Amino acid sequence: MDTRKWIDISMTIKSNMVHWPGDSPVKITKLKDIEDGDDVNISCISMSSHTGTHIDAPLHFINKGKEIDKIFGYTNRNSKSNNY
Ligand SMILES: [Zn+2]
Repeated sequence: MDTRKWIDISMTIKSNMVHWPGDSPVKITKLKDIEDGDDVNISCISMSSHTGTHIDAPLHFINKGKEIDKIFGYTNRNSKSNNY
């Protein structure tokens, strides 16, 4: 029996949370709101990829380093480009 336990260290993403100096801050803007009479709730989220709890791929600090999906063997079959 596996007795190991997972500890969730994920940070909640929210506007104006702590971010890396110089990176874009988290900005969550509500575009549609049912309370205001819209049919749905929709938000726009803008943030740096260094936000909250995350993994940095080698590509982050090594020119032509591996993207995060290449590290774990995951292949996004729908992706036509990995130039991000
Ligand atoms: Zn990072």
